[in-house]
Amino acid sequence: MHYFIYHAGELYCEEVPVKKIVEKCGTPLYIYSGKTIRRHFKVFDSVFSEIEHLTCYSVKANSNIGVLALLAREGSGADIVSGGELYRALKAGIPPQKIVFSGVGKTPAEMEAALKAGILMFNVESLEELEVLGEVAKTLKIKAPFAIRANPNVDPKTHPYISTGLSKNKFGIPEEEVIPAYLKAKENPYLLPLGLDAHIGSQLTTISPFIDALRRLKALWEEISSFGFELKYFDIGGGLGIVYDQEEPPLPEEYSSAILKELKGLPITLLLEPGRLIVGNAGILVTKVLYTKANREKKFVIVDAAMNDLIRPALYQAYHKIVPVEEKEGEEVVVDIVGPICESGDFLAKERKIPQVKRGDLLAVMSAGAYGFVMSSNYNSRPRAAEVLVEGDQFFLVRQRETVEDLISLEAIPPLYL
Ligand SMILES: *Cc1c(COP(=O)(O)O)cnc(C)c1O
Repeated sequence: MHYFIYHAGELYCEEVPVKKIVEKCGTPLYIYSGKTIRRHFKVFDSVFSEIEHLTCYSVKANSNIGVLALLAREGSGADIVSGGELYRALKAGIPPQKIVFSGVGKTPAEMEAALKAGILMFNVESLEELEVLGEVAKTLKIKAPFAIRANPNVDPKTHPYISTGLSKNKFGIPEEEVIPAYLKAKENPYLLPLGLDAHIGSQLTTISPFIDALRRLKALWEEISSFGFELKYFDIGGGLGIVYDQEEPPLPEEYSSAILKELKGLPITLLLEPGRLIVGNAGILVTKVLYTKANREKKFVIVDAAMNDLIRPALYQAYHKIVPVEEKEGEEVVVDIVGPICESGDFLAKERKIPQVKRGDLLAVMSAGAYGFVMSSNYNSRPRAAEVLVEGDQFFLVRQRETVEDLISLEAIPPLYL
């Protein structure tokens, strides 16, 4: 949060007043701090410096190609979950040999694109997927490097929608089927066993689930090795949480030292897939107050950003700190901050104490850099927000605001109705 601070009562992103960016680009607007993203990447990457490793930023957290290009320059790899993310990552200059492909539903077409691009490896999530990957590889005559994503059945103690490492979740292959999967792969010379993988969930705020999963993964790795496999890459996924409100997630160095202790002496290259940690606190969503109103029970602040712009409060009951762009004195009031969408689930904050605001005031929704714009939609035919990347005293529009023409550009009226 260091690069979003007030100077003389005005919120800045790095050296630029937020208000100045809004005057040029309008609202609702996502603003990212390049310095913050870079610092987060560097800190995270450096705490693993004593071991051979590769940090593969999880593209789905924020996939703007401006952000990806920044990370590419820092030496980041990419963890992708679709052909669309592959396309973005390559366009942004992330080398294919630093890309890993996760996800439970990769299509043959996506596998083909990734094989032709020459990615580092596929994190395979089912026996059927492994078989299809083998067929696609054989047809193309390109070997498919892969890791099996194990489901270690550990509880990450996070929101149920972002827990992925439990047996009831759709992700990964149950532990007892992991070894049979590698043995089965031996039947197809186009399948190249290269690693072992797990990713147990997102926004984890304690270390123990990571370590439980890691120990299970290590035991599997040792067992697989006893069958003569030499799996070079040991991928432990992402999921380290950030501070939105009062959370106290482990510091990167606490996370790394616990992990490095477990992995000491293993002849592996560690793969890491952080997403939220890199970009979450590097972005804000700026919105303008449209109206205020009150009834007998409640006060409402109606703003021009809605659940289509930032769905986390509606989807995960997530908390985002909300502050005025121009600092305000005086009494605070308790309000619901809501958007224009016709859904009662459309809110950014409920029962929130904020300074009194009026029409035209700007509010900044903090910690909106991860799972913000990427989850946005056009619901209620709302053009999606613009995105800006700040570097020092400069700022760049890295995604234009959509127009109403964009909204219908792929649609057609059947000739019958014309
Ligand atoms: C989403 C995801 C990540 C990143 O999770 P964060 O909580 O954002 O760090 C990493 N790996 C995989 C496979 C994912 O699906």
